[in-house]
Amino acid sequence: MNIFSEVKEHLTTRQVAESYGLHIRRNGTACCPFHDDRHPSMKVDQNYHCFACGVGGDVIDYTARMYGLSQYDAAKKLIEDFGLPIHTEAMSGEEKERLRREKEERIRIIQIKKRFSRWCEETIELLKDALIQIEYSGELLYGKPPDVIFSKDYAMMLHAEPIINYWLDILCMGSEQEKKELFMQGRKEVEQIAGNVRKWSRCLMERCRESA
Ligand SMILES: [Zn+2]
Repeated sequence: MNIFSEVKEHLTTRQVAESYGLHIRRNGTACCPFHDDRHPSMKVDQNYHCFACGVGGDVIDYTARMYGLSQYDAAKKLIEDFGLPIHTEAMSGEEKERLRREKEERIRIIQIKKRFSRWCEETIELLKDALIQIEYSGELLYGKPPDVIFSKDYAMMLHAEPIINYWLDILCMGSEQEKKELFMQGRKEVEQIAGNVRKWSRCLMERCRESA
């Protein structure tokens, strides 16, 4: 069965014409909307026919004439307007589009999850490195003059140590939710502080070399 006959199975012209605003008398006659009709010349039931101007046809034809649509577009309009359970090509097109979007979204989510777990692994290494650098910097300071020991670089490193430990705790032992929050909100700060530790330890090494 094609969509035309399916639509016609669900709807009468009378039902549709009325719902699209045609006043139909009890005896099934109406003033024809397709010519200047003063006295009801149109008979409307399953189909319609105007005895004055001669137009007539089925519910799809009525809708097409009323809205200046093709027969196919009129059938689609009826399916939409009356919520008919009829599958049209246009709908399957929409369906295809919906499925395509869903698939894209699934791929996107998988990629984000991959990126997230890669980030967790890399960040654990990054932060461990930072802690090692801080520890190594501390060892470097043995026997160094006070101006090196009290340098701003080393103070900054010590200052950063607790937060680095805190992040490592989250990444190694925290809940998925805590890790995600760190990934979403703390990513930049983590990288920045790890980068700073590298910079500070380089500066400190330089000063140690100079003072030696
Ligand atoms: Zn007419």
